[in-house]
Amino acid sequence: MVTAVFWFRRDLRLFDHRALSHAASVSDQLAGVFIVEPRRFAMAGPARRPFLLDCIEELHHDLDGRLTVEVGDPAVVLGALARSVGAVKIFATGEVSPAGARRDAQVSEVLRESGIELVFVDSPYLNTPGRVRSGSDQPYKVFTPYWKAASLFGTEPPTEKVAKQWSASQRTFDRPALEKLEEIVDRRISAVGASAPTQLLRGGERRAQERLATFGDLVDRYDEERNFPGKDSTSRLSADLHFGTLHPRTIVHKIGTHTPGRAAFIRQLYWREFYADVAHFNPHTLWEDLNPNFIETDDGEVAEARFVAWARGETGYSLVDAGMRQLLAEGYMHNRVRMLTASFLVKDLHLPWQWGAKWFLHRLIDGDSANNSHGWQWTAGVGTDASPYNRIFNPELQAERFDADQTYVTKWLGDQSTQPTIFSATQEARAPITPLVDHAAERLEALRRLGVAKGHAQ
Ligand SMILES: Cc1cc2nc3c(=O)[nH]c(=O)nc-3n(C[C@H](O)[C@H](O)[C@H](O)COP(=O)(O)OP(=O)(O)OC[C@H]3O[C@@H](n4cnc5c(N)ncnc54)[C@H](O)[C@@H]3O)c2cc1C
Repeated sequence: MVTAVFWFRRDLRLFDHRALSHAASVSDQLAGVFIVEPRRFAMAGPARRPFLLDCIEELHHDLDGRLTVEVGDPAVVLGALARSVGAVKIFATGEVSPAGARRDAQVSEVLRESGIELVFVDSPYLNTPGRVRSGSDQPYKVFTPYWKAASLFGTEPPTEKVAKQWSASQRTFDRPALEKLEEIVDRRISAVGASAPTQLLRGGERRAQERLATFGDLVDRYDEERNFPGKDSTSRLSADLHFGTLHPRTIVHKIGTHTPGRAAFIRQLYWREFYADVAHFNPHTLWEDLNPNFIETDDGEVAEARFVAWARGETGYSLVDAGMRQLLAEGYMHNRVRMLTASFLVKDLHLPWQWGAKWFLHRLIDGDSANNSHGWQWTAGVGTDASPYNRIFNPELQAERFDADQTYVTKWLGDQSTQPTIFSATQEARAPITPLVDHAAERLEALRRLGVAKGHAQ
């Protein structure tokens, strides 16, 4: 009887799982394992940790309690597990994030020395990063040509749910023990003093499938409504995609592109593909500018205090504050408001985009290094797109245009949103407050800094 190990990572599902299907086809029995890497888990933040534990819990249940869940170094855990079940092969879905790929190379090397082969199949993407190249065999630098070229590869159909004989768990899932594992936060994040989110989405393959089914009834309105945060008309599948409770292939297959709403939605999925591709070819861009613009940013006490006010949703600009409040409460923020809050941090407060990106990554349930850093860089004018630095979001005009009936700000800030757009965002003190900065003046200051950076000081 051939037993192989299956190492689950960001692929916490049984349906449409190519790596698992392959492992099942070449072995009689599988030993499934999820390894909690202490440092990664410590950094995962208060929204991603419970979501991940939900996903593991459901997978463990679906394997009839036969998933081994260990805390430790993957090379050590995998080596010990393979030896105890007599396996010489370990299968996993390929990991493409720069840190994950580095870790995988090291683990492979260690296992190889003990005669164990680590085999990677598939990836969490439609097109594994690195696959899509231009006619001159170069990576794409801009989204639209990438998307056009990537779409030509088409999408393979989903595979059947894997039903397999699983060997007994070597260590069972102890959620309370995992919940107690240490969290790591840096000084700036702890200065915000925020408590854990209270309205989190729950994770797991079944819930992901349900979200996809629900969204299937709304998707035809996506192209018209997706920019309006109060309409809540996007899929909310970002955390499912991040943890792999759904593969994007399943989504493309279910949604199709036969109406404008569907086509717009599937196109949007390719931003995730594109940013993973950019990170693959430029791993340093997860924390550094892809196209530096050398604009001066602020530092020091005032800058730190402004960061805290921004993170708490206390800038005095309603749509910015509502977005930051949604992030605090749900570990999620609507895309339009992510763009606005990011623009506000960079161009109204003149802070480094990395400060905001770290806060987002800490709080977001869908926190994903490639999507997050490149989303921030797009806004800061240092990323992939031609979005110029001098395109500065006006927080009041954005509120008028995208939340005209104030549904969104009312939801996150309460009745004060019936007041003019500038007011206190704190739950305790709802009286109108002075805005943290004057947008018109800071816009000019941002343009002045741009001029200096270009060598044309005014
Ligand atoms: C500053 C900033 C930070 C961001 N940080 C993250 C992050 O950490 N993780 C994350 O998944 N997305 C991030 N995004 C992208 C986007 O805001 C979210 O993917 C989206 O809001 C998730 O909601 P949804 O699933 O309802 O999206 P939908 O509109 O339903 O889109 C479907 C899926 O397509 C992908 N997608 C959509 N828009 C984008 C985009 N602009 N960039 C990359 N992928 C996209 C996501 O996987 C998303 O789940 C960020 C955007 C900005 C501007």
